[in-house]
Parts: sequence; structure tokens; C-alpha cells
Amino acid sequence: MRDRARAVIIGGGITGCSVAYHLARAGWSDLVLLDKGALTSGSTCHAAGLVTQFNPSPTMMRFRRYSIELYRELGVFETVGSVRIASSPESLAELQRGVSRARAIGLEVELASPAETLRLLPQASSESLYGSVYMPGDGNLDPHSATYALAGAARDLGAEIRTGERVTGIELGPRHEVRAVLTESGRIETEVVVNAAGMWGPQVAAMVGAQLVSTPVEHQHIALAAVEGHELPHDLPCFRDPDYLVYGKSEAGGALFGGYEHDPAARWLDGVPWDHSERTVPADEARFAPLMAGAAKRFPFLADAGVVKLVCHPDAMTPDGNPLVGELPGVPGFFVAAGLSLNGFGGAGGIGKAMAELVTSGESELDLQSYRPWRFGAVHRDPVYASENAREAYRYYYRLRYPLDSDVLGRPKRTSALHERMQDAGAVFASKNGWERADYCEPGKPWRRAGEEQRAFGWAEPPYSGVLAEESAALRERVGLIDMTSFGKIAVEGPGAAALLERVCDAHVDRSPGSVVYTQFLNERGGIVADVTVTRLGEQQFRVVTGAAAIDSDLGWLRLHMRAGDDAVELRDETDALCVIGMWGPHARDVLQAVTQDDVSAPVFPFGRGRALDVGGGRVWAQRITYVGELGYELYAEPGWGVQVWDRLSAAGARHGIRPVGYRVLDSLRMEKGYRAFGSDLTAGDTPDEAGLGFCVALERKGEFTGRAAVEAQRERGIERRLRTLLVGEGAYECVYGGEAVLAAGAVVGRVRSAAYGYTVGQMIASAYLPRELAPDTPLTVEALGARVAAEVAADVLYDAENIRVRS
Ligand SMILES: Cc1cc2nc3c(=O)[nH]c(=O)nc-3n(C[C@H](O)[C@H](O)[C@H](O)COP(=O)(O)OP(=O)(O)OC[C@H]3O[C@@H](n4cnc5c(N)ncnc54)[C@H](O)[C@@H]3O)c2cc1C
Repeated sequence: MRDRARAVIIGGGITGCSVAYHLARAGWSDLVLLDKGALTSGSTCHAAGLVTQFNPSPTMMRFRRYSIELYRELGVFETVGSVRIASSPESLAELQRGVSRARAIGLEVELASPAETLRLLPQASSESLYGSVYMPGDGNLDPHSATYALAGAARDLGAEIRTGERVTGIELGPRHEVRAVLTESGRIETEVVVNAAGMWGPQVAAMVGAQLVSTPVEHQHIALAAVEGHELPHDLPCFRDPDYLVYGKSEAGGALFGGYEHDPAARWLDGVPWDHSERTVPADEARFAPLMAGAAKRFPFLADAGVVKLVCHPDAMTPDGNPLVGELPGVPGFFVAAGLSLNGFGGAGGIGKAMAELVTSGESELDLQSYRPWRFGAVHRDPVYASENAREAYRYYYRLRYPLDSDVLGRPKRTSALHERMQDAGAVFASKNGWERADYCEPGKPWRRAGEEQRAFGWAEPPYSGVLAEESAALRERVGLIDMTSFGKIAVEGPGAAALLERVCDAHVDRSPGSVVYTQFLNERGGIVADVTVTRLGEQQFRVVTGAAAIDSDLGWLRLHMRAGDDAVELRDETDALCVIGMWGPHARDVLQAVTQDDVSAPVFPFGRGRALDVGGGRVWAQRITYVGELGYELYAEPGWGVQVWDRLSAAGARHGIRPVGYRVLDSLRMEKGYRAFGSDLTAGDTPDEAGLGFCVALERKGEFTGRAAVEAQRERGIERRLRTLLVGEGAYECVYGGEAVLAAGAVVGRVRSAAYGYTVGQMIASAYLPRELAPDTPLTVEALGARVAAEVAADVLYDAENIRVRS
């Protein structure tokens, strides 16, 4: 066996073979791909082979589109088209949203009527048929042929493929960097390893001491024999019927169909046996029965079809159903392309290309932010919790997931020190990164956990809109209190702390102790990969505060930017060490002053500063910043003091009409104020200048930082699009939730990034990136559930544009 390679790929499924092909094509042909069995001896072996481009995520849609092109080039793709059916009015509405979102990201699709659907699928029943989306470019493939074709193409370019060779360890150097791969028959020296080991991925990551989170979740499909008189033609479009939870295609005159059960099974939570290969696992007929019934509703003759085989096999499912793609922080040279989450054939082509770009140049053309392999952290160390999340993601693969709904499995996982107080406040809890957090509070009513709430009211205005209006008024006119303990908090400490943060942040953060700076982390292309505040607590002591779900992603990003030779820096997740109370409203200062002897008057405690206060003998770190656009504070206390502080604030605030509030209203308030949300308004594809955050970027005040060159180049060129605030409709609630197409003169000019009803301005507000040259008075429409609602570009900031309230 060779003893050196430029790169070693672990795993000969569709993903590993695609990575090998793309790396070889990029000139890295001195590589070896290893598989412990034969090629296709993992999940790849069992795929049904359907691939569609229809997906709400721009990156996943592009992955799939590219994958299809690649399979076509290799001559392994059958372009028979696909039909996604709506079997209920709710699904039709979701399809309408899907069409609008697809058009907004550049995929030309139309809704087909029931009659058109029956023309495409004449064998289908017309019962409960509300319409469909037809994608002529979709189709299917044979998983073996596709994988072997990619492996063959890689081999032709010089790559070596070795089967029957299990990787047993990975040797690391003094910086924890990859040095060699150890196998059952030797050692291969290398600087780059790509972990494409599918559901064994976490075990391979453990070889370098890293945590990777995915759970094997079982998936089943069935081959049915042809029914006389109902033979299905070979070129029948593939079909998906999410209401009945099934997909399928024609096979040998009969049908192959599978689906996503409502009660999926996870297995091997403590590790996948190394000797498992292409064998199936025992099928569960009872679990499959509802899918069988679903398929027979859409194609009644299938009820009489003979069963050829029911296949069951797990695939690596991540807690959010997205793959794991990227280099692992802290282990230079260790890349991951795993956790394909039942999307292997759709994803693998594009992921292979992106991985080759990452390995060879450090950056990928596409936004891989949502796929960072280190995004799951401490809470997912519990394999049972990780598996509950994975099962939840699986069961919503087809089942309609409303945007305002919350996970239900694995709860409660993390509760804050203030949880009981929020329960007393009648909180309706949702969950975020394991935390129970109030969506809204109904004082006097019993608390409860939210789940599939929106299923009850569909796309209409939420029945709790009145409660949100009350919460909004409390924060705007009096004072509101919210438990924000779920904030991610990262301690950055040591002699190298300031330099590391200056390298990563676009703002100047090396300021005096007590400064609180709003900043972004940028990638080399100037795209926004984190949106945080940085507080300087001492000369060598900083705290980065981020969203609940972004903590692991941001911590990993900071790690990735540590360099050999830097002064020492310690990075620590201190999320659990502090509980956080948010208090905002015109009376916030009066309430705070009433609970502390320390002077909190405006001259002593101005906006953008933080300081320690004594509250009832406990030490509280208070910082004067806001996400709602009002005077107020974030108060950080050790969990043991949290209730004490909450109670004192509540008591002192009683005469001002203080009210506990939840997270939902924050969206409404921040949109009125033009504050951006990470993940929707801000993504790796958006730059600070495009997002209207150019004021954060301190080009003059600081030296080198990641993204600087890209920001400068863009300033030179000028931006082509800009995030705008839109007012949608005439004042009533509109069914806009994000992703919808924004049109000018009938042409798509952008897509909605965020949407919320603004209770102070009495309007539905949305944000969208629009072409720079679009005149502000251009009449616009937003597609809302198939209807076109009039919209107009408004001022960026709809409420207190002069910041008088914030700085009062
Ligand atoms: C029943 C079923 C139906 C599906 N249908 C579809 C579909 O229609 N469309 C679609 O897009 N997706 C489908 N999928 C999902 C798709 O099959 C997977 O997402 C995809 O195959 C995953 O590929 P992979 O290469 O990442 O992992 P795998 O195929 O599991 O490959 C991992 C490989 O790594 C090797 N390996 C592991 N550890 C080591 C080690 N230590 N040393 C050496 N080698 C190692 C294994 O032997 C294995 O060959 C389906 C999945 C299942 C289970």
C-alpha cells in the first residue's frame, strides 16, 4: 500500500466518490479513497435514487441542480421529471409558498392544476387532488451505477480507490493537525483527510477527538410488482405526495415507493458497528403500513400489487436535517462531508464540488454556513437528545412544518434559572438549541409548551396576535422583562484575546473596558458569518454574546482563526454560567435605579457601555444595548442570583406596569427599528454594506481582519443590491413568513428575508435585498400564498429613526 498521499478520503459511498472526483478534477489527483467494504457499502447501497431540485434553501437547491447536471454528464440520470402533489388545501398553500420561494432563488417553477397533474400522472386518483408542482428536469438514477461512474471518473483522473481497507486511526501533529491515516494494513502520510464515512462519520471524527453529530435513522421503501392493466410506463415522472408522506417512481412496470413515517426509529445511538456494511436491517411492516395506505390513496390499484421487497436501512440524520460540510476547527486538515440526512444523491454532487473548493482554496463558492459540521455543541453530546432532534427533522421531511411551530421531541432539555418565573408568567414555551424559551406570556393563564400550534390556525394571523400587541405596547410605552438566558456567551480571555477579536470582527473592539460593540464576523468574501456583540470586561477579558443557536458555530469560527504563534487565548462557552434578563422600555432606567445603589443615570451609564452593579448583594453585569429600540439593559447574573434579580425588578417595576414578555414580539419590534436578524437578513452571501451595516466596519480604525479586502473591493465597485424595509399591504396582517418572491412589474427582484407585523406602526413589515438601481417609489408586490399583495419600499427605520429613545 502507498505510504503517502496529498489527501485521503474515508468512505466510498456517493459522497466520498464525489469528493474524490472533484478533488482529482481540481488537480489533486494524488489522493486515495478508502472504504472498509466495497464501494456503496453504506446507505448509498439502498437509496431509491430520486433527485429533485425543489428546495427552499438556495444552497441545497444549487447543490441538487449541480448534482443532476453531473449525473447527466456521466450518463447515469433518467430525466423523467417529477410531480409534487398537494392532497389538501394546506399543502396547496405550502406548495404556493414553495413555488414563490423557488422562483425567488432562481428556479423556474409553476403550479399545475389538478387536471394538468392528472395529465402528467394519468394513473393517479383525482380524489383530494388540489394541484402540484411539476419539475421537468428532475428524475432518478441507479445508486450503484452513479457511484461507480463517479469513482471511475476519479480513477481516470489519477485517484486511487482502495476497498476492504478500514481506517482505524488518524495521527495528529503537535498543532493537532492531520499527519497520517492509519488503516488495518498500514499508514498513509497525508495533510488532508475528508471524512465521508456516512453514519460512521461521528466515529471517524472521534479519532481526532472531535464531536460530530448525526444519528442513524431508519428509512424504508418498498418494491411492488406490476398490476395487470395498470403497468406504469418507464418514463413516468417521479412523484411525491407529502400529505400521504410518500414518494415513488415506476420500476419494472410496478412501483417503488418510500416515505417518511411520523414515528421514525433511530438505532445504534452508541455507534454503528464497524462490521455493518451493505446488509439491510429488519423492516418494520407495521410502521410502514400508514405509508402503504397513503400510496394506495393516490394510486388505488397499488392496494392489489404484490410485494417484491420491503427495504429498511438507516441513513445519517443530523438534528436539523442538514448535512455536515466543512473543515473542523482545531484540527487543521480534517474535513467533513457527512450527515447527508437522506439527501445523499441530491446533495453529493454539489457537496463534492464545494468540498474540493474548500480543500484547495479554503473557500467555497456557495454559502455553507448552515452546514458547518461543528454547529452542534454541548447539548448534542447527549446521543438520546441528538436522536430525538434527528427523528423530529425526519418526520417533518414531508409533513407540513409551519414556520411558527416548535420542536416537540426531547423536551424539556435545558431550562434557565428563571424558568419557574416564566412559568408563573404564563409563558408559552418554544425550544431553541435545547433551551425552553417563552414565545409569549399570558399572565394569569397556565404555562404550556408550544408544538404544532400553527397547524390549528394555518397561515392566518396567529390567535395570540393580541397578546403580542400587549407585549409590544408594554415595551414601547412602559417596561418589559424577558428571560434571555439562552444567549450564547463565549469568554475570550488571555494576552492574545484582543488581537484575535480584532482579526475576526469587522468592528473595532479593542476599546476601553466596559465597551459593548455590535459587530459581525466576515468570511474572506466579506459575507456575514456571525452577528454578535463583544463586551470588554477587562484588559485581557472579553465576552462575545450571540444567538442561542449560533454559539457552537461562532465558537468554532473563533477557533478556526487562531494561529500558531499567537499570544495565548482561552475560548470558553460560558452560556450556562450566566443567566440573562432583558429589560427595555421608557421606564427601564427608573426600575434599574430602584434595585441598586449604584448610579445608573444617563451620563454615568450611557448607551453602548457595560458595568458591574450591586443588586441585593449580588453582582450583576449590566450592559446598555437594545434589540427592540428602547432604553434598556441586558443584565447578566450567576444563575443562583437570577431569580433574586428578576423578583426585585418585577417588584420595582410594578408601579410602572412592568410585564414579562417572550421572544416572538422581539421580531416585531426589531423590524420596526430596522435591526437585522442573523440567518435571515444576514447570511454568508450578504455583506455589511449590502445589509446596511457599513457603519459597523471600522476600516480606518483597525488593521487586517478577515474580509477586509473584500469590503474594500466592494466599496470601490459599489454595491448592486441593498437590504430594504418594505411595508406590505394596507395595515392588516398578511401571510408573509419569509422566502416569498418580491416582484416589480411582474419580474422577481428579490425575496423576503424577514417578516413580522409591526404593532407600533400598524403594518406588516418585510425586508428584502433589492437592486440598488430600483427607484424607491417603484410599486412592488409580494407573493403571499398565491396572491400578490402590494408593497412599497419604506424608510430603513420605521420607528425612532433619530435614536432618541435608545440614547435617552
Ligand atoms: C432506504 C434509503 C433510501 C434512500 N433514498 C434516497 C433517494 O431516493 N434520494 C437521495 O438523494 N437519497 C436517498 N437516500 C439517502 C442516501 O442514500 C444517503 O444520504 C447517501 O447514500 C449517503 O452517502 P454517503 O456516501 O454519505 O454515506 P454511505 O453511503 O453510508 O458511505 C459511507 C462509507 O464509508 C465507509 N466507512 C465508514 N467508516 C469507515 C472506515 N473507518 N474506514 C473506511 N471506510 C469507512 C462505509 O463502508 C461506507 O461505504 C436513501 C437512504 C436510504 C437508507
